Amino acid sequence: MPVMRDDVVAWLERCAAVLEENRDYLTQLDAAIGDADHGANMDRGFKAFMAKLPSVADKDIGTILKTLGMTLVATVGGAGGPLYGTFFLQMGVKTANKLMLTPEDWAEALEAGINGVIARGQARPGDKTMVDALLPALEAFKEAIRNSDSFGKALQRMAEAAEQGMKATIPMVARKGRASYLGERSAGHQDPGATSSYLILKAAADTWGH
Ligand code: ADP
Ligand code: MG
Ligand code: MG
Repeated sequence: MPVMRDDVVAWLERCAAVLEENRDYLTQLDAAIGDADHGANMDRGFKAFMAKLPSVADKDIGTILKTLGMTLVATVGGAGGPLYGTFFLQMGVKTANKLMLTPEDWAEALEAGINGVIARGQARPGDKTMVDALLPALEAFKEAIRNSDSFGKALQRMAEAAEQGMKATIPMVARKGRASYLGERSAGHQDPGATSSYLILKAAADTWGH
């Protein structure tokens, strides 16, 4: 079963709800190795998007995702805003004019989004960033599709890999973003951006998983 436009809308609504629920948690993670604003940043950005959603909810998936990306760029400052902005903008470019997504479409969109984050932020795997949750999640999803798993099963694999990637950031020493200013002292803390990335992908698996 493909993911329909209304399913994408439901995913983004769930993202907004989950990021609101986890606002304090994300802020606490960022307080340990950053500037204690990641929860507020993500919540503000997705709330601003929720206000715009009624005007684009009947458009194609690309338009909806591009609107989210532009809203995050405009309303969320710091590192997270431009990076997540690029993520959703590039996903939107890949899904332009589409009203449904096959598993292959989702893999391509996710890959384009992640490539955008990497092009913009120059983070490599192991640098203790959102990339450490996103990349393994993409790889797990693609492998599941190659193994002919169902879309739902592949999304489950994706979410599990994102969670593992998020947890794997705990011992890492940050080499990008504010946390890198702490050097070795950034080790022992879970990266806030990897955590929000996990929450966003988990929301997709929970919304679309059958
Ligand atoms: P800021 O650090 O400007 O306050 P946020 O707190 O919203 O921004 O986001 C911090 C998160 O952004 C980090 O936890 C990390 O995952 C991510 N991040 C920071 N710099 C980069 C980068 N160059 N590439 C990828 N992700 C990054
Ligand atoms: Mg911050
Ligand atoms: Mg900040």
